[in-house]
Amino acid sequence: MGFKIEEKKCIGCGLCQTICPECFVVKNGLAKVINFELKNCCNFKEVVENCPCKAIKFENKN
Ligand code: SF4
Repeated sequence: MGFKIEEKKCIGCGLCQTICPECFVVKNGLAKVINFELKNCCNFKEVVENCPCKAIKFENKN
């Protein structure tokens, strides 16, 4: 279980990086996941719920 950014929706506001810098970095107006797995992240639910564009989706990784 992890998560991904829907790049077309992201506006690069930086909120995800502010809430959870362990998992997200925002560069050039686009967020990237830098820690795909949730095991080291404390705030992923808050990040997903607060993204203004609903650009962060949970994803199963096989
Ligand atoms: S909070 Fe959402 S819209 Fe803002 S940079 Fe992160 S993924 Fe993009």
